[in-house]
Amino acid sequence: MKFLQQLKHLFGFERNKKPVRDYLYDQNVRSSIFMAAVIFLLEIWLIIRQIVQHIVPEWGDYSDKFIWIYSNLSVFLLFLLSGFAMFVFAVCYSHTDKVKHQNRLIASLVSAGILFLYSLLSMYPLASISGMYSWGKLVSSFKSGLLLTIYASGLLLGASIIYYTLFWYFRKKESRRLSVMVIIFFALLCLVFGFRVSFSDHIRSITSVAHPQNEIICFLTMVIFVSAVLIYKPFISIVVNIAAFFLFYVAIYFGDQVREEVGVFTDGDKVNYVTFLVALTTVSVMIYHQRLRSAVATHTLRHNAEYDELTGLNNSYLFNRKLSDILATNTQKRLNEQIVLFIDVFNFKVFNEQRGFSKGNEFLIDLARMIERIFPGDLMCRDNGDQYVVVTEVSSFKTKINALRKEVKDYDKEIKPSIRVGGYILNNPNEDVRRIVDKARYACGSIADRLDIFFVEYDKAMHDNYHFNQYVIRTLEDALENGHIKPFYQPVISSKDSKICSMEALVRWEDPKKGKMFPDQFIPTLEKTKLIHKLDAALIEAVFKDMKDCLDNGIKVVPCSVNISRLDFQLMNVVGLLDMLVEKYDIPKNMIHIEVTESALTDNEVDMITDLNILKENGYHIWLDDFGSAYSSFSTLKDYDFEVLKLDMRFISNFEKQEKNKIILEAIFNMAKALNMRTVVEGVETEIERDFLIAKGATMMQGYLFSKPIAKEEYFEKLNNGDLQISDYMEY
Ligand code: C2E
Ligand code: MG
Ligand code: MG
Repeated sequence: MKFLQQLKHLFGFERNKKPVRDYLYDQNVRSSIFMAAVIFLLEIWLIIRQIVQHIVPEWGDYSDKFIWIYSNLSVFLLFLLSGFAMFVFAVCYSHTDKVKHQNRLIASLVSAGILFLYSLLSMYPLASISGMYSWGKLVSSFKSGLLLTIYASGLLLGASIIYYTLFWYFRKKESRRLSVMVIIFFALLCLVFGFRVSFSDHIRSITSVAHPQNEIICFLTMVIFVSAVLIYKPFISIVVNIAAFFLFYVAIYFGDQVREEVGVFTDGDKVNYVTFLVALTTVSVMIYHQRLRSAVATHTLRHNAEYDELTGLNNSYLFNRKLSDILATNTQKRLNEQIVLFIDVFNFKVFNEQRGFSKGNEFLIDLARMIERIFPGDLMCRDNGDQYVVVTEVSSFKTKINALRKEVKDYDKEIKPSIRVGGYILNNPNEDVRRIVDKARYACGSIADRLDIFFVEYDKAMHDNYHFNQYVIRTLEDALENGHIKPFYQPVISSKDSKICSMEALVRWEDPKKGKMFPDQFIPTLEKTKLIHKLDAALIEAVFKDMKDCLDNGIKVVPCSVNISRLDFQLMNVVGLLDMLVEKYDIPKNMIHIEVTESALTDNEVDMITDLNILKENGYHIWLDDFGSAYSSFSTLKDYDFEVLKLDMRFISNFEKQEKNKIILEAIFNMAKALNMRTVVEGVETEIERDFLIAKGATMMQGYLFSKPIAKEEYFEKLNNGDLQISDYMEY
């Protein structure tokens, strides 16, 4: 069986995939360019030779000069024009990427037109020549019959190419078959040419004393040309070669019946002849297999570059290209009828964790099949992980996403996977495709944690928000360079003397266009795009600089806390940065407090825990920010040692009315004390709150009652005025 399979492969009986076939066709078209150019040049040379050797010396002997020239040059002219036509065709066919369709039409028409016209023109002189011989003789003569066949087939082929080209053109499709047809015809023409020239050379050589040797070089050259340059299936090469050799042999064997000349091969020549046939065939089969291998390799490479390995859907690269085509070719009205859907599986992480990685993959594949089934014929891709993008009809998408949602939910009755979908209707043909997908993704992201809705369309508010975020991303570098991003400082007040015992640096972005921007406006975006560390690193350095400034101006330096994002630990070397700054600005480590939020710790990031431990060992203080705002507050306390607990603002919002809050606060103070931690209460706005906190044992307080976050200059001023005073109980 395997042997049979190999034989099939060897002779090319297996069916290749379309991209592989296309590759082989392309190679042939490319080869034809060279072939045509060579034929063209060769014919010019032959025409010159013919003029010099035959036409000029016998010029006076013939009365009908046109017929005389024509009968001497016709075949060469035909090949010259064919070579030219082929050249035009092949160049246009393989080098047209932009206006493909039209150029191919032109190329086909030019080449076909030349053949057609020439064949038509040749009918008159051919008829006249036939008069010289008589029609019956012409047809019966092998040589003349051959000539007739060439012209007739040129005519037929020219006509059919024109017809075929127009047919496909108006169907707005491209046809490989057309190029195959043209090339095959060209190859046949070459063969016939080799055949004809060699045949007469050979006949002449046996009758002429001047050329005693057999002249079949032209035939052999043309056969090599055709079978080594144009490579189709091996079995085709074999058949074509054997047929050509056989026919040529027969032709020579029977000779020219008109002139009653018969040419024969010697035995030695016969052996050479067959050896040549075998060698040539082997070479063309070898070339075929070599091309096939590179076709397969190219195809595989391209496939991997364009399709998602797991699901077999388009990858985003190919998807973007196809979406660009849609934008370029659809009318405005048609664009408005199509919507881009960004589909995200909201609890895929849970599925992966509970069912395992391979089941997770299986789910992604099944999901791809569901999407294909529910959105048949629509453009789609897997964008990333558990995210898919589909371009579909506005008129029917709602029913479809409902169906998809239901199917996905039923996929695992226990976990109930659930999708979120963001939609963006196409409207601007010039919009960047990545932007389009981004907008749908953005819409989807905006409902990522909503349980009540699963679809949202990109709208005006989102649009503004999206652009604001884009603005943030775009201008970050500039803002950092130009010092638009700076720390504001909010004092932390000691309960013991109500004076400043520490500071917190809070970032402010003073944008020339948008004015002062607050962290909530840009930090989430910078975290999402993993740019946050750039901001944090710059801000921390600015804090060090300010501290150094205080020292240089003889102002007492107060310890300061900086807020560090959980992502900073992944994105930069926090320990290295702090150590470097401590050295550079000569600030003691215990003057720096690192605030990390509780939610950061619940993610259990290994890098972060290691780094925090190192920081602590090195003498920095680690403060837990926003305590009480996430789910697992107490387990965080159990697992890590913090110097200070910062209580989330919500504990004192609505303070007066919420008796329970007071009880909780008191309990937390007691617990902190027992665990040897100090406390800061954030958001203190009234004196009642302050007095309560002092009475119940909060170590420190922070809030608008004491001061809003202020710029360094204002801070210096307030110190000078005595509005702010420095405590004796500094937080080192
Ligand atoms: P946070 O660290 O908990 O900072 C306290 C926030 O509460 C600050 O908001 C502050 O202005 C505000 N605040 C202080 N006292 C009061 C008060 O009495 N009443 C009210 N209503 N609010 C008060 P801000 O500056 O907008 O910062 C918000 C959050 O952004 C911060 O929360 C912090 O988590 C983050 N953040 C600030 N600066 C940075 C930074 O440089 N890097 C990083 N990664 N995050 C930062
Ligand atoms: Mg903070
Ligand atoms: Mg806080």
